[in-house]
Amino acid sequence: MDERIVILGAGHAGGAAAIALRELGFTGKINLIGDEAESPYERPTLSKELLSGVDAEPVRLADDARWRELDVRLTLGNAATAIDRKNRVVTFADGCAEPYDHLILATGGRVRRLDVADHPRIHHLRTVQDARTLAAAATAGARAVIVGGGVIGLEAASTLVELGLSVTVLEAGERLLGRNIPAEAAGWLAAAHARIGVDIRLGQSVASVSERSDGLTLTLASGETLEAELMVVGIGIVPCAEMAESAGLPTGGGVLVDARYRSLGDDRVFAIGDLAVRSWGDEPAPRRMETWAHAGTSARAAALAILGLPAEPEPAPWFWTAQCGHMLQIVGDPDAGDTVITRGDGVRLYVREGVLVGAVCLDQPRDFGTAKRLIGKPLAPDRAGDPSTDLRKAAA
Ligand code: FAD
Repeated sequence: MDERIVILGAGHAGGAAAIALRELGFTGKINLIGDEAESPYERPTLSKELLSGVDAEPVRLADDARWRELDVRLTLGNAATAIDRKNRVVTFADGCAEPYDHLILATGGRVRRLDVADHPRIHHLRTVQDARTLAAAATAGARAVIVGGGVIGLEAASTLVELGLSVTVLEAGERLLGRNIPAEAAGWLAAAHARIGVDIRLGQSVASVSERSDGLTLTLASGETLEAELMVVGIGIVPCAEMAESAGLPTGGGVLVDARYRSLGDDRVFAIGDLAVRSWGDEPAPRRMETWAHAGTSARAAALAILGLPAEPEPAPWFWTAQCGHMLQIVGDPDAGDTVITRGDGVRLYVREGVLVGAVCLDQPRDFGTAKRLIGKPLAPDRAGDPSTDLRKAAA
């Protein structure tokens, strides 16, 4: 009988897993099932080109014809509700049940919400529908308050300014992008936002929100009030791990997996993308990795493991953000460095005991491409720090 693989969550990682399985030669049944009404798409354009109106459609992983050609049974608008691991069956909101031999969990995360009542003027940015709703509300001249000075909040701020809104960003922490970008590079982006007129307020959080006839009044924890026509809340995601937890799989801020994305509690279950929690290199604690690149690499790694194929060498983790006309790219783990090499205005190389462990590049895609390849290799600091020398020549 054909082997059956069920993939829950038809987002970037789920879709990529289905494609990788076929590309690696899997000939059994693949059921890819998601609760959104959209066929699998990538999210990065949602806060950029799709919100600004440059693109009307998100970037899809494949069109309908390609899914048919790949022989992937794609079911949309149906949420999985429970996993019965003993009988290897998943049940769904529409009452259907789907048996599996291997199960891939790719349910990502849902947006974290403020502790205030929902309101049509309060927006989030996770799905294509969220982006379309925000784009429709974003009229030039309106005032927007963004809650959260992380990647999504700042990308939204930049795009809303482009659309002619005036934007205030409230960040509870003492600096922007505190979760995943080194302080110096976060400062570069803060300066870029200041240049386009974004009003950034650090150490500020929202205590309450009330409705006016034509907008919202936000009361901050400091007592100050702000008026706005719309709010965007970008304060992170909560992993959709409840189903895995109810099924008795090991969880903790997501679904716990090994380096091949296999659940620590069940050999037949995998978790990939934003949902997966795993150890990274020498880092002391396992964690999730919420990046476009990881959605793809984790999907392929799980597909290889399910098919009994050897693991491929793992690329250093990396991501990018595009804001205020700039592209910031980060690879590796800058926090792990003991020394920072300054390479001109836009490149910082983080080395530990002479070995490159991380890099941050602002508008320097060529250096970034090289840095990605040099992670884990010794660097000659004098050559690496000289922007007139090709970074490839800095490999010691
Ligand atoms: P998702 O893409 O969220 O897919 C999970 C899917 O599972 C969703 O469709 C969800 O509805 C569905 N699901 C959940 N529960 C169930 C259930 N019970 N049953 C069925 N289906 C379910 N990364 C970068 O590196 N660079 C960027 O510039 C960048 N920009 C971004 C901009 C935005 C606005 C967002 C939201 C993310 C951005 N990212 C970026 C991050 C990147 O898009 C994510 O890391 C990636 O989408 C994760 O993929 P995933 O498949 O794990 O999760």
